Amino acid sequence: MIERAMALGREAEGMIRTLAMISAEDGRLTRLYLTPEHRQAADLVARWMTETGLEVSEDALGTVRGRLAPSSGTRNAVQRLLIGSHIDTVIDAGAYDGTFGVIAGILATREIIRKHGAMPFGIDVLAFGDEEGSRFVTTLLGSEAVAGHFDPAALQIESSDGIKLADALRLYCKDPDAIPSAAYEPGEAAAYVEVHIEQGPVLEEAGEGLGVVTAIASQIRYSVTVVGEAGHAGTVPMALRQDAFSACAEMALALERLARSHADDFMVGTIGKLSLSPGASNVIPSRIVFTVDLRSQSDARRMEAMSALRAEFLAIAERRGVSTWIEQTYEAKAEPCDPALQAGFAAAIAAQGGKAIHLPSGAGHDAQSLAALCPIGMLFVRCRGGISHNPAEFTSIRDMGLAVMALIDFIEKFDPLQEAAKN
Ligand SMILES: [Zn+2]
Repeated sequence: MIERAMALGREAEGMIRTLAMISAEDGRLTRLYLTPEHRQAADLVARWMTETGLEVSEDALGTVRGRLAPSSGTRNAVQRLLIGSHIDTVIDAGAYDGTFGVIAGILATREIIRKHGAMPFGIDVLAFGDEEGSRFVTTLLGSEAVAGHFDPAALQIESSDGIKLADALRLYCKDPDAIPSAAYEPGEAAAYVEVHIEQGPVLEEAGEGLGVVTAIASQIRYSVTVVGEAGHAGTVPMALRQDAFSACAEMALALERLARSHADDFMVGTIGKLSLSPGASNVIPSRIVFTVDLRSQSDARRMEAMSALRAEFLAIAERRGVSTWIEQTYEAKAEPCDPALQAGFAAAIAAQGGKAIHLPSGAGHDAQSLAALCPIGMLFVRCRGGISHNPAEFTSIRDMGLAVMALIDFIEKFDPLQEAAKN
């Protein structure tokens, strides 16, 4: 079995290397949405899908779709299993993020065709073009359109290079008016599954190659302002200071303590951006603006934690004689993965001799858009050091091969009627 996994993994690695050569920049990987590189990558993926025996089409947002029809005489011919991920990258990216999920879908479907010809349900392999949001400030456009909730206001958004999305689509030979036709009919999609590198260190720490995603984490972002009073660093006694930075430092530790106390919910809290003024070595800081990013696999626990944190920030400010404002700038609900799909992936991991680790995804994925359309499931693959969005991103041939084998096993045991019964 391991020889088979290694052979599939080597094939995946070869395809990943070929895709990684398609870049806007020499010597590093940058492949943004609706660029000539996106076109080239989409054409290559379409060719692989055609060679696999899939019927290829492309929708109005550039999502490439390879379709395998269900076996003839299938009672439930309209139901399809969707398997997808993305082929766009961040700037100076790694080679595995997104692309491996698309390649895993193609390889697994090819093995299904070789072994069974077709399944009693249709299979669509999807390659989305805008998951990273590196060119337009918005993200998940392709998967939102497929799920039927694309917001037309996004067409007016300008790219980092000053082109409106609507115009960028036309330059890509796409018709923005045709976007609604990208959507699946309700009931047509039995489930959406995605294979993705973990982008974190949990599987490596556990010594397992594959893991089952429980939920895509809920996320909230705040902008916090703390205002104290500037003063001479040499003359104002410590007891008389209203030091905005000291208050902020105490708030940072409160955030860390809170997130650590919710480790069961995989809660993580980060202050990633901070500005301090006036910003001189001999002046007590009077004004700090910082961001808070708080994530958890549970919406309820995250909201509970956020209100506790808000109360603590206000108490710290009051005690230190500074003022504080807390403003919410972003919120995304948690998207739980379907329990039956999780069980399917857990069984598929066990069939490869692995132990199924269950973990949430702290990062966003196309799957979260698809959750509005159908049940979602995700299979995570170990990546070295948990590093991603970085050229050092690495997933081993063995782990990729086992992921493809697990996906094949999952497809073979997938039952769309069981999924439909729950909807
Ligand atoms: Zn990704």
